[in-house]
Amino acid sequence: MTTVTKEAGAPVPADAGAFLSVRDLHVSFKTEDGVVKAVDGLSFDLERGRTLGIVGESGSGKSVTNLTILGLHNPMFTTIEGEILLEGQELTTARESELEKLRGNKVAMIFQDPLTALSPYYTVGRQIAEPFMKHTGASKKAAWDRAVEMLGKVGIPNPKERAGDYPHQFSGGMRQRAMIAMALVCDPDLLIADEPTTALDVTVQAQILDLLKDLQQEFGSAIIFITHDLGVIADMADDIMVMYAGGAVERGTTAEVLRSPQHPYTWGLLNSMPRLDSDLSAPLAPIPGTPPSLLNPPSGCRFHPRCTFQDRVDGNRCVTERPLLAPDRASACHLTAEQKRTIFVEEIRPRLG
Ligand code: SF4
Repeated sequence: MTTVTKEAGAPVPADAGAFLSVRDLHVSFKTEDGVVKAVDGLSFDLERGRTLGIVGESGSGKSVTNLTILGLHNPMFTTIEGEILLEGQELTTARESELEKLRGNKVAMIFQDPLTALSPYYTVGRQIAEPFMKHTGASKKAAWDRAVEMLGKVGIPNPKERAGDYPHQFSGGMRQRAMIAMALVCDPDLLIADEPTTALDVTVQAQILDLLKDLQQEFGSAIIFITHDLGVIADMADDIMVMYAGGAVERGTTAEVLRSPQHPYTWGLLNSMPRLDSDLSAPLAPIPGTPPSLLNPPSGCRFHPRCTFQDRVDGNRCVTERPLLAPDRASACHLTAEQKRTIFVEEIRPRLG
């Protein structure tokens, strides 16, 4: 188990062995309506060669966390507290010039939509070659050869010829492959993939996921894989962190979380997933309600306005007291371990089939 999470108010010491350590991270934005607390006390570790799947609905803070790791936030409107240590280097206080050296080199990102990452004005080969030249000092010719090599690695046929094409001459799946080539060209230690296959059809999605797994084997990168799709996580990740309203609510190995999930929000996510082996005429069971506004997040457990299990907790704790993640197999919920086990086995699992 490589991923460790704890909630606000219970910071854990950085793991000296972790490649990436996020500690008690708070990210907030000033808006016309007030301050949005997009990430509110998040801690986790990630080691090299491992894949951490971060799952949650829109607005859970998963993308903001990763943009903050990359330093891609507007400092005019953003306040960051806490620590992000990459091989011991503190990123939250790093200068832009230092972050620029890291981006595309040690840390790279694959976005959901390649058209936002690839410029329509330059050939695909040039766009892969340029970061390589910038970060390694390679000659134009060596960088072009590297771009062709990378296009071959990600499965573009005739890479020598296709390197001279513009993005619009590639299909959607090929553009995604080209963006992966661009992200991996400098052999980054950390790859952040933000919903990288959402816009692709199922067959191409499976090919891209296989490609990422193969490339991770080859390059040994750590991967943070962001998605709202637990099915994709099951296929890709060693560990899972479930986020809700700016914090982690559950974490564990992928096998643990999918076999015996402990948090009512995770139960809701699993219950709302379509299944091929279920009665296709039966309606899906979405989680009731909507994610909360992070301008005025709910008191206590942030999931309490949507949680159907809060009456099983003594007193009014769900409304008054924010639950913390325990240091071992963790879910941030006031239900006892016994209650979580019993509810899952007797009430949730039968519904999941
Ligand atoms: Fe539900 Fe209470 Fe657990 Fe929150 S702490 S998930 S409201 S039971």
